[in-house]
Amino acid sequence: MTNATMTQKEIIAEMTRLRGMLQVKPARKNPARNRYLASLPVLKKALESGKLGGVVLWKGASLIDGTPIVYVANKFASDSQNEKTGAMVQTFIVPDTEKAGIECNGARPAKIVDWLEKTGAKSICGDCPHAWQQDSESGKFSKGSCYVREYQAPAAVMGAVYRDSYPIAGVDFPAAWIAGIFEGTNARFGSYGDPAAAPAAITIAAASKTRQRTGYTHGWKSAFEGFRNNAAKLAGVLMASADSAADQDLAESMGFRCFRVAPKSEDVFAGQNIVCPASKEFEQKHGKRTDCAACGLCSGATGKGAGKRSVVIAAHGGTAGKVQESTCPAAMRMLDAMAIPA
Ligand code: SF4
Repeated sequence: MTNATMTQKEIIAEMTRLRGMLQVKPARKNPARNRYLASLPVLKKALESGKLGGVVLWKGASLIDGTPIVYVANKFASDSQNEKTGAMVQTFIVPDTEKAGIECNGARPAKIVDWLEKTGAKSICGDCPHAWQQDSESGKFSKGSCYVREYQAPAAVMGAVYRDSYPIAGVDFPAAWIAGIFEGTNARFGSYGDPAAAPAAITIAAASKTRQRTGYTHGWKSAFEGFRNNAAKLAGVLMASADSAADQDLAESMGFRCFRVAPKSEDVFAGQNIVCPASKEFEQKHGKRTDCAACGLCSGATGKGAGKRSVVIAAHGGTAGKVQESTCPAAMRMLDAMAIPA
């Protein structure tokens, strides 16, 4: 079609289309980070020094609902201290902002709340009982009991992914480097999102050479078959988040070790479980406590926790009354209990 044959309306429409094509989007290839991709040692040094903020371990279709998600690891720098877990590499399973239509703007975190209200984070959290819950009348989802403030670290990570700040395994560097990237680190799998939403091989490779690691999944009992089957493959590296003693029995019969937050009425020292050594109750009984980076017992059925009992922690403070038959969001109650202000 030429201008000679176009109507005024068509010309305006065409100009609008071309203007849209010319709009400057954030660089899809961030040149600043490419200098760190020459070799695995160079990449690792850049991550550990904080020159490079993180990496994308995998991008693809969620094993929960098939929508595009991204698996990110960051906080490799040794000063990335979290007072509750100690210094640990953090991993995030988040939606692919562009494909999910989530707004990202410059250096700001992604605007995730609309997406959460529409989807309940199904693609990354599945049917976790602590995820966003749907109102049967409005259809809108609202915040559940999960401790994560999605608009903070997860939104910041999504913004960085959108800006192409993190090199991508299998695209920018060999996926075979994943194990080496994590070698010798203390790592936490599922700082946000469920690691079982991504192919098990990614987490298994990442966990294979860590020094200490923790990880949790609610996928072990999910109604989403692909998610559940994938979680089963991760029993060696992830703890099953158990919401009751019956849950714990079932998950253990499936080969998992469990992490369970016990209701206030339960004497956690009375059973056969390991009482989390980062907990208040542990400190009250033994006069000291530790953090996850030093403990590492939530390593699933292999690693430091291999052959050991499941872990329990008592609900505390503001959450205690809400925990009846044990409510455990892969860490919320745990972290709440560990926060320990005097
Ligand atoms: S047992 Fe407690 S301190 Fe140890 S890794 Fe698990 S949650 Fe962290």
